[in-house]
Amino acid sequence: MLCFRLVIPAALAVGYLVVCRPAIVCASPDVTDRAARFVKDHETRLRPLEVAAALAWWNANTSGKDEDFDKKVAAQNAIDAALADSKVFAQIKELKDKRGDIDDPIAARCVDVIYLTYLEKQVDAEVLKKMVELSNKVEKAFNVFRAKVDGKEMTDSEVRKVLKDSNDSARRQAVWEASKKVGEVLDGDLRALVKLRNQAAVKLGFKNYHALQLYLNEQDGDQLLKLFDELDELTREPFRKAKADIDERLEKLYGIPVAKLMPWHYHDPFFQETPSVFTVDLDKPFEKADLLAMSRKFYDGIGLPIDRVITASDLYEKKGKSPHAFCTDIDREGDVRVLANIQNNEQWMGTMLHELGHSVYSSKNIPRSVPYVVRGEAHILTTEGVAMQFERFSKSRPWIEKMGLKVPNATQFDEAAKKVQRNQLLIFSRWCQVMLRFEKGMYENPQRDLNKLWWDLVEKYQGLHRPEGRNAPDYCSKVHICSAPVDYHNYMMGQLFASQVHHAICRDIYNGADPNSVIYIGDKRVGEFMKKKVFEPGRTVDWRGLTRYATGEDLTPKAFAADFKAN
Ligand SMILES: [Zn+2]
Repeated sequence: MLCFRLVIPAALAVGYLVVCRPAIVCASPDVTDRAARFVKDHETRLRPLEVAAALAWWNANTSGKDEDFDKKVAAQNAIDAALADSKVFAQIKELKDKRGDIDDPIAARCVDVIYLTYLEKQVDAEVLKKMVELSNKVEKAFNVFRAKVDGKEMTDSEVRKVLKDSNDSARRQAVWEASKKVGEVLDGDLRALVKLRNQAAVKLGFKNYHALQLYLNEQDGDQLLKLFDELDELTREPFRKAKADIDERLEKLYGIPVAKLMPWHYHDPFFQETPSVFTVDLDKPFEKADLLAMSRKFYDGIGLPIDRVITASDLYEKKGKSPHAFCTDIDREGDVRVLANIQNNEQWMGTMLHELGHSVYSSKNIPRSVPYVVRGEAHILTTEGVAMQFERFSKSRPWIEKMGLKVPNATQFDEAAKKVQRNQLLIFSRWCQVMLRFEKGMYENPQRDLNKLWWDLVEKYQGLHRPEGRNAPDYCSKVHICSAPVDYHNYMMGQLFASQVHHAICRDIYNGADPNSVIYIGDKRVGEFMKKKVFEPGRTVDWRGLTRYATGEDLTPKAFAADFKAN
């Protein structure tokens, strides 16, 4: 029998891990043994495939070579094929049904996690094939689509440039409308895809695809809406004020009264980011800084050294390499790498803090005694949260100065940095309201008037004016609705987690100090807290359990709102 030697705190084991046990538990040694054997067996089969896939992913993104991309696809297909096996699924389902009889909470948790992994791949082969074909078609159409204005094609970055820089309102409108035409191209395919996704979900016993995706993510639609209602309540007024300030600036900039400002005046095609109407140079302090050395010094100082990560990483621009940034745990044995393209500006300082935040929340700091299948972050929202918690320091003057950099025009920097940070988070939170509610509405009732639903939500949560008489499938112009469904809300919840953990650190380590003044530098207690309270449980707990364990409370928007003086 497999022996899990992980010592988990009693509160975790009793209070949070085992939630569905009957009052009288008759644990069965037989079921416990079978569960342990199954977990071990699963690990033996999947581990080599997962390590190979992680390496292939890394190679493809660092080299950009076709043959590496082919290997990446092949490695993923091998994993999918293993997880689609219906006989193995029947075994794990049986164990899942007898979960209450499993005497070891960690083994029971492994069963939960493995069950979800297989469930996702149990879609009928024919339906799956059609879904893959359609998603590929949609993705391709997105990539080749070009907005056409006055007979001329424009790339996505040309569209964004006009929306950012042009003072010609008519031109803005023409470009914005042309960029939304992709929605009309994709509408039919997306509707077909939604139908297929719903069919697949119903076959697996779920109401619709949205409900299935949330279940796979250990989330619940009604609870999620409650959380987002609370967030709406807390951000509505601060957002209204922030937007009024932005509107006033846009009014001056374009000579258009606020009441006549339209979606194409807000720089970003979806108003998911703050328009660049604040004149301040946040990049100045970082112009000559060594961002890598700073990151190393910071993480080392708080007791979470990253030397090995840096050695294994690929951090500067080169030909063929992915232009983005990500962090990946290759083997869950400590081989953790970051891909980045460092430039000397504030955005890359934030990105480095973010990616390296992911890197410390990995098998580097989750003990080997945690079984392989749960030796990772508790949830996407918790690792994004940790990354965001550290990322925020790139806009903090006390942090920048204590790290040894000079900030010219300190007062001006402070004011602008605070405003940009605040606006970004508020604007993002309102945009996430639209995404969550739209997707839920669409999968629950795909026959309804989706064009109207989209604009109703945009008006309500983002405060934008619906262009008069507009009746077009504008939701289809957001690529995530098509290719990364039911995922957006996790980034918002990550922000809530980031604030809540930071507040817990201020309460538990800094005697309740003002969260805006706490910058962690050189304080090893912060690393200790993160290791003990956030990293070490890995996925032996779900995100709810981890949030309660780390902060003493359920996930709420209270700390997030307090950060922006919304209360
Ligand atoms: Zn991230």
